[in-house]
Amino acid sequence: IRKSALLEFVPPAGSIDDVGGLENLKRWLAKRNGSWLPDAARWGISPPKGVLITGVPGCGKSLTAKCMSSLWGLPLLRLDVGKIFSGLVGSSELNMRASLRLAEAVAPSILWIDEIEKGFGSASSAQSGDSGTSQRVFGTFLTWMQEKSSSVFVIATANKIDALPPELLRKGRFDEIFFVDLPTDSERRTIWSLHLGKRLREGEALGGELALTEQLVADLAAGTDGFSGAEIEQAVVAACFDAFAERRALRVEDLQRAVVSTVPLSVTQAEQVAT
Ligand code: ATP
Repeated sequence: IRKSALLEFVPPAGSIDDVGGLENLKRWLAKRNGSWLPDAARWGISPPKGVLITGVPGCGKSLTAKCMSSLWGLPLLRLDVGKIFSGLVGSSELNMRASLRLAEAVAPSILWIDEIEKGFGSASSAQSGDSGTSQRVFGTFLTWMQEKSSSVFVIATANKIDALPPELLRKGRFDEIFFVDLPTDSERRTIWSLHLGKRLREGEALGGELALTEQLVADLAAGTDGFSGAEIEQAVVAACFDAFAERRALRVEDLQRAVVSTVPLSVTQAEQVAT
């Protein structure tokens, strides 16, 4: 499968070490590597059904999912739940079934359901006009999750856990649910090192003025409390553009300026609550 209408083959990308923080989740996944192999039965275990990762936007949920195929050496298929609901009567369920069959056809495999709340968010509420279809598609998925014996590991990512139907969170569906929060100070140090280190390695014109010292990383982390991983990356990129615009090496001031001009989503949301 290179690309089908509903499922997209995600080529192996990056290593799980590119994900800063999220240690519990990474450990959980690493321990289950190879659990689909017949040999695993000697330990009295069966392959996990799946994991749900929810939490703050831009903190590494999708990044972790994208690293799954290199972590486990299995094909990774991304399901666009939005496309399941095609608008033609009856075909949404067929779409769902076809997607699950495709993932089974290449098993052992990993099925990544991105933004699962977008597809199933309305499934348990009767308010939405399409909730009948949504409920049936959701039911198809739930039954498959519960009964599946094939080695298709589901990794579902969601921004809003409260938008998900409670049935999805019940025992027997996902083996584990992880909540990803904004990075702590030490996680921000790792994320700064990862992103800044990568740019300095790849962009030969950036180096020369700035050394990636522990002190610099500690200062940047301390100045970016409330930033998500994505916002840290955004600040690194903005600083690189400052250097590029003047065709010179990267300076600490570029990074400081980029940090100051980035208003993290967490601050914007806190302001909205306060007003
Ligand atoms: P969303 O729900 O908004 O998609 P997300 O949690 O899935 O949020 P990602 O797509 O994983 O966020 O993050 C966007 C980008 O930000 C990543 O591709 C990566 O470059 C950077 N990033 C986010 N979190 C981390 C992290 N923990 N470590 C390293 N980079 C990160």
